Amino acid sequence: MTTIVPVSGVGFRPHDVIVGRGLLAELGARVAPLAQGRTVVVTDEIVAGLHGKAALASLKAAGVTGRLLTVPPGEGSKSFAELERVIDRMLAFKLDRTDVVVALGGGVVGDLAGLAAALFMRGIDFVQVPTTLLAQVDSSVGGKTAIDTPRGKNLVGAFHQPRLVLADIDVLATLPERQRRSGWAEVLKHGLICDAGFFDWLAGEGAAGGAGDPAALERAVVRSVQIKSAVVGEDEKEAGRRALLNLGHTFGHAIEAELGFDETRLTHGEAVALGCALAFRFSAETGLCPPDEAKRVGTVLEAAGLPTRPGQAGPLRAAALVRRMAGDKKAEGGRLTLILARGIGDAFTAKDVDAAALTAFLEREIAAG
Ligand code: NAD
Repeated sequence: MTTIVPVSGVGFRPHDVIVGRGLLAELGARVAPLAQGRTVVVTDEIVAGLHGKAALASLKAAGVTGRLLTVPPGEGSKSFAELERVIDRMLAFKLDRTDVVVALGGGVVGDLAGLAAALFMRGIDFVQVPTTLLAQVDSSVGGKTAIDTPRGKNLVGAFHQPRLVLADIDVLATLPERQRRSGWAEVLKHGLICDAGFFDWLAGEGAAGGAGDPAALERAVVRSVQIKSAVVGEDEKEAGRRALLNLGHTFGHAIEAELGFDETRLTHGEAVALGCALAFRFSAETGLCPPDEAKRVGTVLEAAGLPTRPGQAGPLRAAALVRRMAGDKKAEGGRLTLILARGIGDAFTAKDVDAAALTAFLEREIAAG
């Protein structure tokens, strides 16, 4: 079954996210009405080897001229150097403003190809074909594109909404298990933010999705896209409700940064899971959330093979984490903004978090191992 999730919002062109199985074979037919001339399929070397041929064959069958443009896999490709190379290849292929860029890959390819499309001749259309679970439930929805600089992640980018997103559940079959689990953390996060019923399902029958069951994955992707697109539609530029999508991210990002963004130790999704567990336990400790709900969050994340205790990540110092969470400003004795929860499915922006209480909480968490 194919599900179409319409995405619309103030200030951007509406488009569809299509979720289903076997969609890569439909790429050509879906792109043909959008592309007047040719397309460039930006992908990474791993995805090119697994799914590049099928993408090109589908385009060819629909009469669309397509070429693969391959970048090395990994975060390192979100760089000025790769962006320049991609745009240079697009110029060499003589793409013009009526042509379409297809981003076939995970969040790295989506961010890089999306930014190239936003910049090329002041902006051309692009189609996202996300191939990781994280990209299907998170990065392909919302229109954010970016590259990194040596000074930090995602510092140079643009809002550029795709014309279409094709989330093919079948391409997830080739995803390494740890990548799938990392994406599953973002799925669970969506339930924790605003849909307790969805979280209940993910904790029970839906847990099969975390283990790779395609039917459960499909339902989880659909609901996640609905949640993310509804939030983004209200607030594309993150002034208000979009910030809720950062549940677990402020804790998680601080931990990732302290560990030097070492994906072998802690993936981004694992950091988000740990961050969600900490956000709920801190919410419980400060009397915002019932303690049994915080405990349940930890149990469900652990059952999905995700970390929930700082000791599982590596050596950490509470004061350093809080400094990072406060945006490297001196936070001790001060106040900071965090996404916390009144319960499962009820996250909110807490604007006046006591940095001293947060530091004491993290010291206890770290000491507990
Ligand atoms: P990724 O794109 O690096 O993909 C992870 C790995 O999986 C890569 O080695 C890739 O080659 C491989 N891979 C991809 N699809 C595969 C498949 N079907 N089978 C086998 N291997 C496959 O990482 P990611 O986790 O998808 O994305 C992380 C990036 O997304 C980060 O750069 C992050 O900043 C960005 N991001 C962006 C947004 C946004 O809103 N734009 C949101 C969240 C994350």
